[in-house]
Amino acid sequence: MGFFSKIGAGLKKTRDSIMNSVNSMLHSFTKIDDELFEELEEILIMADAGASTSARICELVRGKVKERGETDPAKIKDLLAETVAELLRGGQELNLRTKPSVILVIGVNGVGKTTTIGKLASRFKREGKKVILGAADTFRAAAIEQLEVWAGRAGVELVKHTEGSDPAAVVFDTLAAARARGADVVICDTAGRLHNKKNLMDELAKISRVIDRELPGADKEVLLVLDATTGQNAVNQAREFKNAAGITGIVLTKLDGTARGGVVLAIREDLDVPVKFVGVGEGVDDLMPFDPEEFARGLFSEE
Ligand code: GDP
Ligand code: MG
Repeated sequence: MGFFSKIGAGLKKTRDSIMNSVNSMLHSFTKIDDELFEELEEILIMADAGASTSARICELVRGKVKERGETDPAKIKDLLAETVAELLRGGQELNLRTKPSVILVIGVNGVGKTTTIGKLASRFKREGKKVILGAADTFRAAAIEQLEVWAGRAGVELVKHTEGSDPAAVVFDTLAAARARGADVVICDTAGRLHNKKNLMDELAKISRVIDRELPGADKEVLLVLDATTGQNAVNQAREFKNAAGITGIVLTKLDGTARGGVVLAIREDLDVPVKFVGVGEGVDDLMPFDPEEFARGLFSEE
């Protein structure tokens, strides 16, 4: 399946919810006026785009209407798609040029970190890259086993210690294995739950220091995984992790299960961190590189 159909299917709930509101709103207007934009802003806020982002989108659409002398309310959808694509554009690529390069995957419990790592490992493997996974979520034995299942499925190697061991030590060994075996990409899982938040952030900082010390100059992505079904809560999580952990990109999971896909907009605008991948299901192929144009079209265009 191509990106559009897959993201299209994954966005169905969000799209249905936004488009139903937008369509019925547009039906009740014969011209484009302030009232129309007020209602549009309301709809975007309801779709979890966030208050300031929704206002900004309306401002930009309003500017385009003026500039082009549009008078037909039906044109609003295309202008929305165009505006949203512009807002989201930029920074989607993974920066993984060095050999090895490292991806550290972080986020709270249950958002889809381990699943995302499994999907990424398969993707890289398909691209012909040698991948090693580090099972640095040592909080529970089940977390290590779950990553092992994904490693097996993807046909990639995995470095693990036992439950309760030091995550930074797992990362240290994974990096050593990557160097020794000539790996292209190292992907490290992490725990989303420790005894408290400070503990978790300290642990992530320690892991980052190990990576910087052991592989100085290596390209490193710190991907924060967020669960789209949690809406504005995801934005709050992103804010906390951004302050503590120097994230380079977002993976937004579970878009398939929610009408709150508008949260992509809030994350990009409020936090200025690019969304790099979206999860649209539990299967190995259900992770898509984030394409702003396709996303915007998936949300607002008539098919
Ligand atoms: P972790 O605690 O962050 O490592 O989260 P897991 O990877 O264990 O995932 C938690 C649950 O979310 C699992 O049941 C996954 O199958 C599910 N999940 C992860 N990503 C997606 C997604 O994109 N769509 C859906 N529908 N489920 C997902
Ligand atoms: Mg996990």
